[in-house]
Amino acid sequence: MDTEIRRRAYAAGLLFGVVTVPVIWWLRPDDAVMRVAYPVLTLYLAVVLIGLLTRRLAIPTSERLMLGVIGVFYFARLLGLLFGGQTYGEFTGELFESTFLGLMLIYLFAFLAFESRRALVIGLSYFALVAGALAIRVVPSLGDDVSAAQAVSVLRVLTFHLAFIGLVYALAYGKEQLAQARATADAMTVLAHEDTLTGLANRRGVQEVLATHLEEVGASGGKLSLLLFDLDGFKAVNDTHGHLVGDAVLQQVAATLAPELRETDSLGRWGGEEFVVLAPGTDLAAAQRLAERSREVVARRRFMVDGVDVPVTVSVGVATSRVGDDARSLVKRADDALYAAKRAGRNRVEVARADGEVGATP
Ligand code: GH3
Ligand code: MG
Ligand code: MG
Repeated sequence: MDTEIRRRAYAAGLLFGVVTVPVIWWLRPDDAVMRVAYPVLTLYLAVVLIGLLTRRLAIPTSERLMLGVIGVFYFARLLGLLFGGQTYGEFTGELFESTFLGLMLIYLFAFLAFESRRALVIGLSYFALVAGALAIRVVPSLGDDVSAAQAVSVLRVLTFHLAFIGLVYALAYGKEQLAQARATADAMTVLAHEDTLTGLANRRGVQEVLATHLEEVGASGGKLSLLLFDLDGFKAVNDTHGHLVGDAVLQQVAATLAPELRETDSLGRWGGEEFVVLAPGTDLAAAQRLAERSREVVARRRFMVDGVDVPVTVSVGVATSRVGDDARSLVKRADDALYAAKRAGRNRVEVARADGEVGATP
């Protein structure tokens, strides 16, 4: 449940309590214990109400405070009824019409305030106290002021309460399991779209963003540029310094490229030592400048891993969307341009030209 709705619902309930408890107190001036208990309860409810309204009290804390006070209150009420000197016939009406209903409220509240297992323990402990008090009062009076039929009705209500606790537990437990399953599914979705080494989007993640961008481009007729980066001679880095150094370099390259991008651009890891940039609203000339700047930044930067200087350069292939493009055709053109950059000697940028040829001039 939304916390704001909860806060308002509790505030309404507390306000109701703050108004009605003094009225009940005023209507029933006979009970000595309750003459003190009701004003104290009113004050307590008012404090929790103010705490809730001023947001000084967190929702879970106020739930526990409310559960505590209703729990103590109803148990005191029950003890007062059972052992206050009245005969069973005198208090049976109040017991069935008010106290037994109030107890159900407490069981319900326990599941709102605590996670299901803890609530079950609290609910059952409270139930045991209630059942114990009833047994102490009813069993010795059997055949005296309590008839067998009356004892059976009490037993029936207790059985019903036990079933109620079980039902609410089952519901709360099921709800928790569902929430947990959802959280796991969400975490797995993130994992499925994220590259663990660099923390960037992985190919699947980039492909989803690409599909969204292409839809927008199709609808608005705008431009989308795609830049493919491939580290030059990276096999040699691994062969010379080891795979772990290679991994660290990949992380540093990712961190080097990221600041070159605009807020709306996305950077992802396309494959082993390949990165991809999606630049929506960027035409071929601007994408080429971005690629050139990124290439330079990487070439100029010193990549240091464990005190070892690892020079790195990248080749970049750039393509911009055309009418009728899909992800495959756009990536294919960028890939062709990248291949051309490699063939032309590496550490350079090539663009897929509008006429379909790959060349330096857009
Ligand atoms: P080129 O300039 O033609 O791109 O040469 P290259 O050596 O980079 O190209 P090639 O495709 O032959 O090799 C890519 C290498 O990248 C192979 C592999 O060892 C390395 N590589 C791919 N993924 C990873 C990774 O996750 N970690 C590390 N350390 N190396 C990787
Ligand atoms: Mg490669
Ligand atoms: Mg490479």
